[in-house]
Amino acid sequence: MRLLGCALPTPILYESHSHTPLCQHAQGRPVDYAEAAEAAGFKGVIITCHCPLPDNHSDWVRMRPDEYELYHDMITEAKEQFAGRVDVRAGLESDFFPGVEPWLEELHERVPLNHVLGSVHPQLPEYQDTYYNGDGFAFQRTYFEHLALAAETGLFDTIAHPDLVKNLAGSEWSFASIQPHIAEALDRIAATGVAMELNTSGRYKAIPEMNPSATMLGMMLERDIPVVIGADAHVPHRVGEGYADALETLRRVGYREINIFLNRQRQPIAIDDALVSLGLTFPS
Ligand SMILES: [Zn+2]
Ligand SMILES: [Zn+2]
Repeated sequence: MRLLGCALPTPILYESHSHTPLCQHAQGRPVDYAEAAEAAGFKGVIITCHCPLPDNHSDWVRMRPDEYELYHDMITEAKEQFAGRVDVRAGLESDFFPGVEPWLEELHERVPLNHVLGSVHPQLPEYQDTYYNGDGFAFQRTYFEHLALAAETGLFDTIAHPDLVKNLAGSEWSFASIQPHIAEALDRIAATGVAMELNTSGRYKAIPEMNPSATMLGMMLERDIPVVIGADAHVPHRVGEGYADALETLRRVGYREINIFLNRQRQPIAIDDALVSLGLTFPS
């Protein structure tokens, strides 16, 4: 990549995955994320904090049900403060596991949302208690099965960080072994039309690469699965982090477009235009 000339490019990108302190493991309010989005040359930021769940499920890493209104108030405050500068929007990162569907259906209807991420979080003890029986490979298969089931619920726009389980597997992670099961899950996800995320925060995890890997992105491209980039920012300064690398990776794999969701409608953006908006271009 090289830098373009000095004219200030027009922002077109959105941060599609960011958090708030309500989840108890993130810092900065939506106004801080909006400020960071402006500094990054982004058009907007979608706040997608961890959804409330019933029965105190993993309540130590998410907002409480009675904080959901406060969550939207914080986003509205930022939206008003940054009007005309940064487009601040409400979204949600909702956990999927079988049985949670009716709760999420009601939750997603309550306040209009722009982007709903569907996440399976295999690192949660609450998830492992139910789905891990000591067989690591079976656990990986269940994880990918759950990604497919999540897409099939129709509750989500984008399946988040879709190979997160590899970070837990350690030496038990063998892409060649799990690949047929990933292929099966991707066939099912492709049939739903649901998008998948390229999450740049994977670079800080046990296997330091974005989620998913470039190889899996290639399998997604073969099935025409749309991609949404997200930094999964838990601190404001991570807004937009890794987007240039993510765009470069996608381009190398063969993708020509990325997507954002606004009002839960998918909007494609040409990768080359996205790069120009960041003041970058590839040598042709
Ligand atoms: Zn989080
Ligand atoms: Zn997540």
